[in-house]
Amino acid sequence: MGAYTLPDLPYDYSALERAMSAEILELHHSKHHLAYVNGANSTLDQLAEARDKEQFGSLVGLQKTLAFHLSGHVLHSLFWQNLSPDGGDRPDGALADAITEHFGSFEAFQKQLTAATVGVQGSGWGVLSWEPLGGRLIVEQVYDHHGNVGQGSVPLLAFDAWEHAYYLQYKNVRPDYVDRLWSVVNWQDVSARYAATRQA
Ligand code: MN
Repeated sequence: MGAYTLPDLPYDYSALERAMSAEILELHHSKHHLAYVNGANSTLDQLAEARDKEQFGSLVGLQKTLAFHLSGHVLHSLFWQNLSPDGGDRPDGALADAITEHFGSFEAFQKQLTAATVGVQGSGWGVLSWEPLGGRLIVEQVYDHHGNVGQGSVPLLAFDAWEHAYYLQYKNVRPDYVDRLWSVVNWQDVSARYAATRQA
């Protein structure tokens, strides 16, 4: 077994059907996410082999491949925890206060994260992150799994905008998928992540 393993989902494949079908969720978790886990482990093996042989001719490609698969594993592991059949509505407490402070209002934040997710060119993510240097929440629009990201940003809530996340159910209508995603956001999880980053 390699360094990384596919985590179990905290709910059944049919649990999020008001936002994504069981067919999509099963494929997304058991095939797509697994491919990133396997890709990260395989790339670490190839890097170890390159070190052993002191043959670094493929290093640039391997580093890029590691960033892609590892970030895919990180973001999907976050995404599953960010969702819940009991989710929806909006946050309260310290996270709600911080969203108001840094975005003006929950509605303004919601519109920005929706636009960032819907507007990804090609494949990527819309992400709410904690940016530790400025001590603030920001929305980031991630390309693939690892591009367009501020170093040090801690992702708290991630919306997958890859076609594999919605195409079987929503076809080309990504805005409808993102609209439904809000109905399954696990704000308890996002709030716990926010609290943990503040304590770190
Ligand atoms: Mn995905």
